[in-house]
Amino acid sequence: MATGLGTRGDGPREQITIDPETGKKTVVMGDLEFPPRKVWMKTFGCQMNYHDSDRIVSHLNDLNFEKTEELEEADLVLFNTCAVRDLSNNKFYSQLGEIKHAKKKKNGLVVGIGGCVAQTEGKDLVKKYDHLDFAFGTDVIDTINDMVYRVYAGDNKFTINSWDRSENFSIETKITPGSPQAFVNIIKGCNKYCTYCIVPYTRGKERSRRLNEVVEDVRKLVKYQGIQEVTLLGQNVNSYGKENGESLAQLIMALEEIEGLELIRYTTSHPYDVTDDLIEVHGKSKKLSKHLHLPVQSGSATVLERMHREYTPEHYLGLLKKLRVAQPEIVLSTDIIAGFVNETEDEHKQTLDLLDKAQFDFIYSYVYSPRAKTRAAKMEDLLPDDVKGARLREIQAYQLKLQDKIRQTMVGNTYRVLVEDFGTMGGVKKWKGRSNCNRIIHFKPENEEQDFKWHWVDVKVVSATALSCQGELVQDLGRKAPSTETLH
Ligand code: SAM
Ligand code: SF4
Repeated sequence: MATGLGTRGDGPREQITIDPETGKKTVVMGDLEFPPRKVWMKTFGCQMNYHDSDRIVSHLNDLNFEKTEELEEADLVLFNTCAVRDLSNNKFYSQLGEIKHAKKKKNGLVVGIGGCVAQTEGKDLVKKYDHLDFAFGTDVIDTINDMVYRVYAGDNKFTINSWDRSENFSIETKITPGSPQAFVNIIKGCNKYCTYCIVPYTRGKERSRRLNEVVEDVRKLVKYQGIQEVTLLGQNVNSYGKENGESLAQLIMALEEIEGLELIRYTTSHPYDVTDDLIEVHGKSKKLSKHLHLPVQSGSATVLERMHREYTPEHYLGLLKKLRVAQPEIVLSTDIIAGFVNETEDEHKQTLDLLDKAQFDFIYSYVYSPRAKTRAAKMEDLLPDDVKGARLREIQAYQLKLQDKIRQTMVGNTYRVLVEDFGTMGGVKKWKGRSNCNRIIHFKPENEEQDFKWHWVDVKVVSATALSCQGELVQDLGRKAPSTETLH
């Protein structure tokens, strides 16, 4: 298998045998036998980290580990960490502390940490926390079984955070069995060095997979694993293929040809790299989602300059305009950082103004959080924390009002959604699905026993607020999308 997130050396490999009569799986690796065991995993941060965690669990299945949600059942505890903001960082540290007691209670419990915090601080943490057996960085996750083997072989207290130096980023997608959705890494790392962001330090330099490899990977996922929707993943997918003379626009059009593939999404984008070709693809592709998440961060030209974002608010709004011309049904969303270093009241107000002009369907907003190593963290910041917090709340309240109005326009429309899950709202069981344009819509089944998991259904929106949309089931189309013709 091709690997890109850490290539495995020549060491021992998993030998898996399944007893045809009992179905019992036995795994031997090197001189160790791996009986059935359980892994409990806690993930912090973005979609990329959640995807990495699924990948890790998928490898661990080959070593006879099954995922559990119950910490008490676990033989192996893993944290996949995020260093982007203080909040997830702090949550991780408090949970790492609590695991100490679990380790005392259960003899032989193995504890490891991976992800962005492990990449930069793994060595110190392994030294500092007695109950931590090992740490591994963001570029070695495909070698997780080698690391777990090493711990069971009696060698713990190590850190592996090397960078994969192979020329091209090459990887095979792993999926959650039964799901028609796949997350496909197409580029890793980031070269942008926005002054506030830790990602270039925790995920390394940009490297893309070759276009042919991605297309072949997706073709197989569709043909053999029943995948109908793919999300192309990377910190900056718009940079995809630059080093190979390839582009995201070309990749989308090549994926479009795959029969049986219904929907293509991608995340996350940087406005600087949104090309006219890509905008054109938003207009002409039949399979590309009519939603784009395009982080703007601020509505002020001077703040964007201090952030080293390489575009102005006018350029950004111009992109939205072009996208809306190319694809009139496109739904847009963004990320905002409130209270960046020395932001003035006027600069802050310009962000509210941009929200007004952009008319986003939703936003993710965060208070600025200084990260060690970044350029912004070295700037003297005179803005008090309470002002930053107040600005965040103002941005959120402002957006909710805009959003409420935008969502009203959904009422009466019918959306085709892929149903992901169900939950209980006010004591009533409701299923929820995601539309092509990435809107979550809830609907009540006719009877509680009906199972809509991974069905495509048409739902008519009957009421909507800024934060939730309620619909009525129009028709159930089953698990296979009927055609590439999608509604909104
Ligand atoms: N690559 C994407 C881009 O260009 O915007 C985003 C990746 S970043 C992991 C996700 C979001 O976290 C960013 O869009 C930004 O809003 C937020 N973020 C990153 N660093 C931050 C910081 N130091 N403080 C607050 N928010 C931050
Ligand atoms: Fe971070 Fe995104 Fe900027 Fe890269 S482009 S440095 S990931 S915010």
